[in-house]
Amino acid sequence: MILPLPSAKFPVLLGEDVIRQRINELAADIATQYSGKKITSLTVLEGASYFSRDLRERLANRGADVVNYDITAKSYVGTSSTGVVQVSGVDGEIRGADVLVIEDIIDTGRTMAAVTEQLRHAGASSVRICSLLDKPSRRLDGLRGLRPDFCAFTVDDLFVIGYGLDFNGQYRDLRDICIYR
Ligand code: 5GP
Ligand code: MG
Repeated sequence: MILPLPSAKFPVLLGEDVIRQRINELAADIATQYSGKKITSLTVLEGASYFSRDLRERLANRGADVVNYDITAKSYVGTSSTGVVQVSGVDGEIRGADVLVIEDIIDTGRTMAAVTEQLRHAGASSVRICSLLDKPSRRLDGLRGLRPDFCAFTVDDLFVIGYGLDFNGQYRDLRDICIYR
């Protein structure tokens, strides 16, 4: 018996070919902007891990000098933000570094506000954000100015899954980015 692919259950918002193509473009843009500089990427686990791996592979193909560390920032339970952000994994490698935070999705902006604040505090020489997705319509009033420096796609106020994004631990492995409903 042939089982349907899991992603067939959910409407596809961004298919894997579209994602791949867009990551190629992002890698070209990032490689150009950091030309001659070492990039210290901080990948926000677990959601950004697939995106980060694919992006860093493309950056390496373009000769970019990237060293990656994984960090965690927990702020979400189910489909609504709890408002509490705990960041861990940011350590001594940060002082003087040109940091590129690789995130899955920016929603209220609380997570990226907390992470970038911590990195500036740790003495990073520059801090930029590369997010797979951005939901600007969800930004908290006080964080409207928080925009990713690099972003693959802007999305509406939908809860999305796949390509690293989960719903309580499920559906991360979908190849497409799908709408959870
Ligand atoms: P923020 O702190 O910006 O409100 O939340 C950012 C985090 O919430 C993201 O890194 C992600 O882990 C989670 N999140 C926000 N929107 C979505 C979504 O549509 N789908 C999934 N799977 N996670 C989301
Ligand atoms: Mg995240």
